[in-house]
This record gives sequence, C-alpha cells and structure tokens, in this order.
Amino acid sequence: MRSHAGGYLVFEPQLKLSLQCQARKRLKKERVSILTGDRVELSDLDVEQGTAVITRCHDRRSLLSRPPLANVDQVVIVQAVRQPEWNQLWCDRYIVHFQLELPDSMPILCFNKCDLVDEAQAATLRGIYEPLGYEVVLVSAKTGQGLERLISLLERKISVFAGPSGVGKSSILNKLEPSLNLKIGVMDHDFGVGRHTTTYSKLYQVKTAELLEPAWVADTPGFNLSELRHPGPADVMWQFPEIASLSNDCKYSNCLHIVEDGCKVIESIGDDEHEAGDSDGQNGAARTSAPPLVSRSRYQSYTVVLGEAQEEYNFRRTISTKHESGVKHVGGDKVIPRLKNSYRAVSRRKEKQKLGHAVVFDDELDVDGEVPEEESED
Ligand code: GDP
Ligand code: ZN
Repeated sequence: MRSHAGGYLVFEPQLKLSLQCQARKRLKKERVSILTGDRVELSDLDVEQGTAVITRCHDRRSLLSRPPLANVDQVVIVQAVRQPEWNQLWCDRYIVHFQLELPDSMPILCFNKCDLVDEAQAATLRGIYEPLGYEVVLVSAKTGQGLERLISLLERKISVFAGPSGVGKSSILNKLEPSLNLKIGVMDHDFGVGRHTTTYSKLYQVKTAELLEPAWVADTPGFNLSELRHPGPADVMWQFPEIASLSNDCKYSNCLHIVEDGCKVIESIGDDEHEAGDSDGQNGAARTSAPPLVSRSRYQSYTVVLGEAQEEYNFRRTISTKHESGVKHVGGDKVIPRLKNSYRAVSRRKEKQKLGHAVVFDDELDVDGEVPEEESED
C-alpha cells in the first residue's frame, strides 16, 4: 500500500483507479496530515502513469485514533464464540472502547465460528446484546453462514473490523472478498504528526455480487488492556445502555450503582438466562415497554470497566500532580516551568544570539524559537 517514495495511494471513484499521489508542498508546510480514509482533491492526473497530486484534504466526519483512520462509519467488533473461548468481559471492553472512539455509531457485534457451537448457544449471545440495541450477526467464515447479512451491513460504508487476534477477522474478510490483494486507500505519516511511526492502516475494497456499491473495510490489530480507552468513572454507566436507561431513575444522585442500598440498577440485576430464548410472542412485546433488566454478566463487566476507569483516573491525577510540582506559580493562573540550571544557560545563550538578529515578533517564531524560512508559493 505505502509507496516507497513516501506517497499516497488514492482511489479515484470516477476512473475506478488507484493513483500514486504526492501531497502539494503547501499541504506539508501547513502540516495538514492526510490519513487513510481521508477524502482528497486531486490535480495533475496522469492516467497513463497512474499519478496525481493531492491539493486538498476535506474535513473529516470522524476520526479513529488507533489505528489512525478517517471517516469511519462503523466498527464491526468480531469475537469468536469458541476457539478462543468467548469472553464477555473482553467483548464489553471492546464495545466501550469503540463507543468512545466513534460516539455517533453503535458498534456491530459479529460472533464468528458459529459452526463450533449449537444454535442455542449462539442465540444466547444474540439474546444478551440485541435487546440493548446492538446489531448482532452470527457468522462462520468456515461455512459462510451469516455472511450475506454481514455484507449487507457494509454497503457504501467504511467499516473497521476489530477484535482480538485469532477470532477470524482476516478469514471473514477473505471470504467476503477473495481477491483482497486489492488493497486500496490513503496512507499517512509522511509528514506532520506521527512522521516517524511505521504503523499505518489499510482500507480494502469489497465488491461482491450482492453489493451495488463497494464497501470499504479495514482490519485492525487487537488491543491490550493499556490501549483501551476509558471514560471518566462517572461516565462509564452511559456506555452500558441498560444501565444508562436505569440511571436516571436511581434515587441517589451521583450514584455509581455499585454499593448503595436501594440503588435502582442494583435492584434490576437479573439472571442472564432470562434474556436467552426466543424474542417473539408476548415476551418480546413486554420487553419493548418495560426497561430492560441488567444481566448479571453485563453488570460484572460494568464493575470491572468502572474499576479500570477509576485506576486510569487516579493515574492521570498522579501524573498531573507531578507536573504541578514541576512548575512555578507566578501570580494568577500563570505558571512557568521550573527550569534546571543547564536549561537556563541554554535559553540565555539563545536569547543573546537573537538580539543580534532583526526584530522578530514572538509569534513569528516556531516552536524551537527559530525564525521560520520565508514561505514560498507552490
Ligand atoms: P484473525 O487473527 O482475527 O484475523 O483470525 P484469522 O482469520 O487468522 O483466524 C484464526 C484461526 O481461526 C484460523 O486458524 C482460522 O482458520 C480459524 N477460523 C476463522 N474463522 C473460522 C470459523 O468460522 N470457524 C472455524 N472453525 N475456524 C475459523
Ligand atoms: Zn444507583
């Protein structure tokens, strides 16, 4: 995907061609970073050579931080029902992480390897998440079960497949688009932030007979605990729809729903089994009107994620306290760093050097305190 010359591979939808592109010098100077998934404007198209120049990067609808991807519409969280054994806590951690990353869309839950369990077991997973508003797809990359439904959810969209390694993300993608050598996208990190990192994301185009318009998908590596995002402790409840919907009815204000006697959420914890089984008939009707109960296993995930959020919060506070002790208050809200003597000597030397130059206003200096070169127009 990434060209050796440090350029970008851009798909031109009208020509249906991938072009090797360089960014206009001006964009580099303005430190515009172009990410995979970005929509860009091109000029100087040379169809024979397959090259063009990027002149502009459009505003992003969304931005995923890890891996860096622009304009992602939805995340498909892939989990295996077996091999590796399904782990609800990890499933819920992924859900919280991606809800924070992409607040405008509910993740799709894709349970793979359904060929390894019986239907009732797979239905149990559906029973946990569908009533909470999540789209659930039960699939098997091996048998192809459920894949038509999955592909119908991807049409025209940019989707990210996320989940631990080994759950079958690549297998699913290969099954959806056997010719996945067609790697098309836009690369980043040639300038600006992240210049020296080697990580980048790939977007693949999926075109199958079922799709009128192609889908774009990205595979992502799994996450470890320290890479997951957490909300502030008091906001964890809003990431669990069933707990969020009960939170406003809890008689305690600022309740975290973990200890209080008579807490609405704690009172509503029910056994997991009640959610399994069919959703048709009177049961289904009753469920739509009554607020959903909180299943014991989901509540457990909630308490663990809350604990992790609290840990992170405390950790950040320690860091900021350390930072505070490294600054000197100079009246009002103003603080200046306590500089070590060696730094002071360097800054004084720089100051003296500068006095020899023509006058430059402070805000004309770049971060190193150097006078920037004259901007030249492209
Ligand atoms: P990834 O790390 O998430 O991309 O997972 P892979 O696609 O590499 O798959 C990991 C392993 O699971 C491989 O050995 C696959 O053959 C196996 N696998 C993937 N999908 C299925 C499935 O639907 N059923 C079964 N039984 N095995 C699968
Ligand atoms: Zn409560």
